[in-house]
Amino acid sequence: MNFNMFLPGLEDVLVTKMEKIEDRIAFHVEMKLTPHSCPSCLTITNKVHDYRIQKIKHLKIFERLSVIFYRKRRYVCSCGKKFFEKNSFIQRYQRFSSEWNRAVKIRSIKGKTFKETADIYGTSSSTIVRRFDELAESEITEVRELPKVIAIDEYKGDTREGKYQLIIADGVTKEPIDILPNRYKKTIKHYLQKYGAKVEVVIMDMSPAFKAAVIAALGKPVIVADRFHFVRYIYWALDGVRRRIQATWNDYDRKKCKKMRYVFHRNSQKLTDEDRWYLNRYLSMSAELKQAYELKEKFNEWFVQAKDNGPEKILQTKELLQSFYQLVTQINIPEFNRVIKTLQNWQIEILNSFAYNLSNGFLEGINNLTKVMKRNAFGFRSFIRFRAKILLTHKYKKIGYHVG
Ligand SMILES: [Zn+2]
Repeated sequence: MNFNMFLPGLEDVLVTKMEKIEDRIAFHVEMKLTPHSCPSCLTITNKVHDYRIQKIKHLKIFERLSVIFYRKRRYVCSCGKKFFEKNSFIQRYQRFSSEWNRAVKIRSIKGKTFKETADIYGTSSSTIVRRFDELAESEITEVRELPKVIAIDEYKGDTREGKYQLIIADGVTKEPIDILPNRYKKTIKHYLQKYGAKVEVVIMDMSPAFKAAVIAALGKPVIVADRFHFVRYIYWALDGVRRRIQATWNDYDRKKCKKMRYVFHRNSQKLTDEDRWYLNRYLSMSAELKQAYELKEKFNEWFVQAKDNGPEKILQTKELLQSFYQLVTQINIPEFNRVIKTLQNWQIEILNSFAYNLSNGFLEGINNLTKVMKRNAFGFRSFIRFRAKILLTHKYKKIGYHVG
């Protein structure tokens, strides 16, 4: 009972029998008899010598793992040469179909854990890990030269090699380039010395260690302080003031204010009536907290204006930042005094953010995805494998995994 059936990855085969063996579906298949050209003398022949049965693992079909019994034909040429027929679904010496290999390859990158992928594809975790490692070996190209604009940021990877890792991305295309095992100055410096000859601009958070490493390795690159990071200092200052003030309040207000702390952060235009009521209540309870809040609002105004000004009006942006410092000095709140010292130390780098209109906000997205991967896989103890997982995930982002 030969019949043609559309099976993904087995389009050209003749299914001669289909049966259930334990929990698997077994397909008995063969190729059509067709003239083949002899690999040795190129004569066309369709003389069959013999058959071999090859057992191949294939994808799930109807929610069951499937296995293929392939009746593989061997032709014989008049010159005496014996050779196997061509087929599209299995490569020589493989135990898995080509379609299975393709599906596993993508799933080993995109799947939550190797164990999960192994269960779906009816194999062991160690097989999936081996496939993944082979893939990483062949697909992750070694960095030879970093581009002109790079962005660096740390994330908490908790691997054996260190608690924090450093991700390096292309600041223009926003593609991850590499991951360093730790964020130590000497690691960064060594890496940049090796690959950074063309680097002109580095986007980073306000870490003195990063800055020192970059300067030591690259001389005088343009350093751009990341917006997300320097704005955060202002929010931290406001938090500091709120905590200090609320500590002097009665139990109820102290606990409630702590719970409602987001109302101080949120864009004031976007507060609900209830949130605004709480905000007004707390601001009315302390003149200093009110001033701190107004400083945060003032800084946000500057930030919006600075983005608007862009490179053309960078001098105005600088002047407005300096008036902000003056305002802070006049009002004289310790938490804010400390912050403007930091901002002053990084003023050139902060202004560069608007002069070059660059930020590494996109790295935040990459690092969030990394956190999800880490959680799903219960941590990646091996730095090499985690690095591969991150780099391959981004490389394969645009490829879906509907197969299997
Ligand atoms: Zn021949």
